Amino acid sequence: MSKVPPTVRKKYQSTAKCTDKTQHECDVMNSIRGNLTGYDCPKCLNRGTVFKVDGNYIVSRECECMKIRRSVWNIEKSGIKELLSRCTFDNFQDTEEWQKDLKSGASTFITDHIGKWFYAGGQVGCGKTHICTAICGELLKQGMSVRYMLWRDEVVKLKANVNDSEEYQKLINVWKTAQVLYVDDFFKTSDTEDGKKKKPTQADINVAFEILNYRYINPKLITIISSERSINDLLDCDEAVGSRIYERTKDYCFYFRPDKNKNWRLR
Ligand SMILES: [Zn+2]
Repeated sequence: MSKVPPTVRKKYQSTAKCTDKTQHECDVMNSIRGNLTGYDCPKCLNRGTVFKVDGNYIVSRECECMKIRRSVWNIEKSGIKELLSRCTFDNFQDTEEWQKDLKSGASTFITDHIGKWFYAGGQVGCGKTHICTAICGELLKQGMSVRYMLWRDEVVKLKANVNDSEEYQKLINVWKTAQVLYVDDFFKTSDTEDGKKKKPTQADINVAFEILNYRYINPKLITIISSERSINDLLDCDEAVGSRIYERTKDYCFYFRPDKNKNWRLR
């Protein structure tokens, strides 16, 4: 210490004092409880931010718990909280070859989805919803925001607001811009008297086109679709909608023809 010139020593002492004071302020800030809920964090006491001294300043950074919180929030607003716990990759039944194919395709899709969509088509009970939900679960774990759109219900809400431009845009933008969108039972309609599926109405087609075309031109948005219909059937319903789905799902298009053996819910 004796070799340090007095002026420097003085400066050093005053900085040290200042740091002590700053550290105390910082400790006080770190001891205040926050009001975030859903996860009890011992590090930030539920503020979401932690403070530390950097030189003479107090700097803040986001607490690690925010990742967990975001994931919890994402699950809450995804609309498939219940399904997510039931439908995982681990409990997807894959004893048959076609089930193995579906599962392996779905797991590849999780990391290979730029400009590609996932399509699971075919009869009720073949595990379409299960596998699509499992994909959503994995993407949520990666911190992505997922929205679940049960086609029949949501299209009714959208069409009911079609004359209120502001409300309509607000509603449809949720589906257009979702980072991950899962459309379940796409173009689901009632059956005709001879047991065939009714075609969707022009209003249904318009809504589908607006959502899917937006996602088509924004290839980073992840789109997962399940439907009882085949791609050919979709092309029959509407060429513009069907061809966009066809093009985007080339690598990940699964369709299961009506076959009692594939309906393992019936076993
Ligand atoms: Zn925290």
